[in-house]
Amino acid sequence: MANMNYCPKCATPLESRLEGGRDRMACPADHCNFVHFGDFSIGCAGVVTRVNNGVIEALLVQRGHNPFAGTWQIPGGYAENDELLTIAVEREVEEESGIIATVNDVVAFRHSLAGTTGGPSTNVYIIFRLDYQSGEPTVDQDEIADAGFFTLAQMESMEGVQGLSKWGIQQALRTKSGSGLSVGEQAGRQGWQIFGLTNVTR
Ligand SMILES: [Zn+2]
Repeated sequence: MANMNYCPKCATPLESRLEGGRDRMACPADHCNFVHFGDFSIGCAGVVTRVNNGVIEALLVQRGHNPFAGTWQIPGGYAENDELLTIAVEREVEEESGIIATVNDVVAFRHSLAGTTGGPSTNVYIIFRLDYQSGEPTVDQDEIADAGFFTLAQMESMEGVQGLSKWGIQQALRTKSGSGLSVGEQAGRQGWQIFGLTNVTR
């Protein structure tokens, strides 16, 4: 990773400092606590299913832009720096497909180092299970070319369904609703969420 020389918060020249077991570029200015830990991002995506004539279908969207234009994946995107994950994934699902769905639980996540997925930063991509509420697939025909509900059998015969999306759907279909990591109900601070296993027995 290229060195960062100036503080992105206050533009003071950064200095190398031992921080958390490694030398890192850190801001020496008073009242600025910036430390350059790295370049990270958080992605979130949603598995939304519904039953049609007794068969389970899952929501997919088709990318309209590169990279990977034309491929199909579960709807999702980057969580904003000031946005809680459950808000981000519900927003992305609605923006990309017109479907209103609410977070149930986390069924899987992927951790990838910068460059390994084509993304610019080291990334955690969290796959949620969402409960369908309302709406029919509707797309902007720009960022998203198409959207629809498909069975796993249909996905097998479709071109360009992203492997990670299919795996996420399978994770959701073979586990009990609510058995994944769910948002904890304990009173927390403003601006944070905790996720824990709840609907599981031993
Ligand atoms: Zn600073």
